[in-house]
Amino acid sequence: MSSDQVITAATAIAGVIGWPVGHSLSPAIHNAAFAEVGVDGIYVGLPVPPGQAGDAVASMRLFGWLGLSVTMPHKFDVMSAVDRVTDTAGQLASVNCVFREGDELVGDSTDGAGFVNGLRAELGVEVAGRSVAVVGAGGAARAVVHAVGAAEASDVIVVNRTLQRAEIAAALAPATGRVGTVEDLRSVDIVVNATPMGMADTDQAAALPFDVSIVQDEAVVCDLIYHPSATPLLVAAQARGLRTQNGVSMLVHQAAVAFELWTGVAAPVETMTAAAARAIGSRS
Ligand code: NAP
Repeated sequence: MSSDQVITAATAIAGVIGWPVGHSLSPAIHNAAFAEVGVDGIYVGLPVPPGQAGDAVASMRLFGWLGLSVTMPHKFDVMSAVDRVTDTAGQLASVNCVFREGDELVGDSTDGAGFVNGLRAELGVEVAGRSVAVVGAGGAARAVVHAVGAAEASDVIVVNRTLQRAEIAAALAPATGRVGTVEDLRSVDIVVNATPMGMADTDQAAALPFDVSIVQDEAVVCDLIYHPSATPLLVAAQARGLRTQNGVSMLVHQAAVAFELWTGVAAPVETMTAAAARAIGSRS
């Protein structure tokens, strides 16, 4: 919220449901966006205990809220509370955004689109026709696998320590997905770390998800982690002169897709990126 914003009875409300939710960067990102484009809206954190996602969605219906972001532990439960889910959310069995379409509340998953859009916007890299390896097979990895498969990556290779989870993730790119090993990283165009290895303030802060010396000189190395902005993986990749991207890109671009679904207004991505960087910086 900008210092001169006036909240009135007409101010539209959006927010993020989660438990806990106090750590979320989304209020900083979306309030900066509302202020930049002049939409009379406010975005708040909504702490919703486990098992009560349905009540939160009912509140959105009752109060006419503009939209909701959804984070842990509600991403699955929200599916049965909305009127319908998009194909993407249905295939991932995960909702991170609820928007209105006429009288209906629709659940979507915008993380994967955020990854693909961020790669295009920030590095000028199109996924179509390129080979992509995703290291990890959790929720973030599955969203990326699904999105790069839909964006017609030539190969989508999932590398994960638990084979069964890798198989489930690879199936989300039905035409080109397969399970691979670290050896596959030698030949791909784009490598994505979707594990928490390298995340600040955890016992994995110094961990490397793979040895970056094996990737090709032309490869793009992406990390979905945004804290720190340069993980040990990205530091090593940059030392080799490789193109890199951190997790701020996916974070901001998934929010941009949600913002556009809620408001119908083009998201001010630069303003949102600056707000995310400030919010992350203020925590460090
Ligand atoms: P998750 O569901 O817990 O999945 C984590 C994945 O990492 C699993 O596949 C796990 O392997 C693997 N893993 C964890 N520690 C490992 C280790 N020490 N060695 C090998 N593999 C390991 O987590 P998530 O929600 O997908 O999040 C993954 C990362 O993405 C996190 O760093 C998160 O901050 C980031 N993220 C970023 C954004 C963004 O907008 N930028 C959004 C969401 C998440 P197993 O399957 O074998 O357990």
